[in-house]
Amino acid sequence: MPLSLTRILAQRPRDGSRGLEWNGRGGLPSQTLSMGSTVGEWLPTLVDLPQPMDEGLVIGLESALISRSDKLEPGVAAVWNVLACQEDSEYVPNVRIFLDPHPPCRLCEACASGNHWKCIEVQSRRWHPGWIAREMVVPPWTVRRGVCDLPARATVRSCLYLDPISRIRNGLTNVLKSKPKRVAVCGADLLGILTGFVLERMLPDSIRCLIDPIEARLGLAREAGFHQVASHAEGARLAMEDAPNLVVVTDGEASFSKALDLCAVGGTILLLVRPEGDLQPVGLDKIWQKSLRVMAAVGCSPSDREVAAHWIEDLDVRLGMIPVMELPFEQAALAQGRLDADPTRLAVVLTSG
Ligand SMILES: [Zn+2]
Repeated sequence: MPLSLTRILAQRPRDGSRGLEWNGRGGLPSQTLSMGSTVGEWLPTLVDLPQPMDEGLVIGLESALISRSDKLEPGVAAVWNVLACQEDSEYVPNVRIFLDPHPPCRLCEACASGNHWKCIEVQSRRWHPGWIAREMVVPPWTVRRGVCDLPARATVRSCLYLDPISRIRNGLTNVLKSKPKRVAVCGADLLGILTGFVLERMLPDSIRCLIDPIEARLGLAREAGFHQVASHAEGARLAMEDAPNLVVVTDGEASFSKALDLCAVGGTILLLVRPEGDLQPVGLDKIWQKSLRVMAAVGCSPSDREVAAHWIEDLDVRLGMIPVMELPFEQAALAQGRLDADPTRLAVVLTSG
């Protein structure tokens, strides 16, 4: 169900007590396993679960995704279940949802112009306790703006990719006008592979090449819609028979300077992650000489999520082929170490047992 201003206003608190009785609240635990107060910190601690407010929700974690070096915002790529809600809520217990932990207000000038990530409200995180926990209490403000229905016919695993796919779509929307014919993607980790699926939908006629020095990761390239693979930039140029007009950087390790060398004159470089190191000495000279456009994708709008939800339903079987490993939520702190030990696995899926 798409979120709209009408829906936000319709969900405002009403007079009277009709429907204020809670479903599911009686069976809630008084404590929950939280991962700490700082985003990205994985320190399992038992903490008290706050009382839900009227018009709020209590949700339980079904699954969450951790990518290598936390290229995704940790805790956002997650699937939740409604555990308790009031009788007149739009939700019922056991419904599977996506929750934006820091949703935009959808009313301010930035939101109205489609630049939701510039909304001042985006900075504030409105749920409790901590930044990710097995059970979460969501206040009404966030329920009205940040909850998104997940596609019913897709698996939980595919639903975990909703947020990264939405962000990739948002980034690529801004470069579509130049109709790039040849596209190179630097990095065959999770973001690179997901970019392949999105490119196939948004630029179906382009020639697409995936570049990664770890050749074992390139095996999934054809399944993700790439025509060519290469272990280095020169290989990509040869495989595509010309320099790419669009280079998408999905990992930090030296990929930005690789992209500057590889990109055709007048082309575009799209940064899906912030490249590591000091960028100024490497970048400006080549950007000037080759008249390049460098763009960064920093967020997505609610409409990106709606489109991504449809794509996930269609791509369900193919997304299931992405090699991941599973860990119980309590062992989340081990995830980065496990990923470092096995470069062919693209992410850790946390399950809430
Ligand atoms: Zn706003």
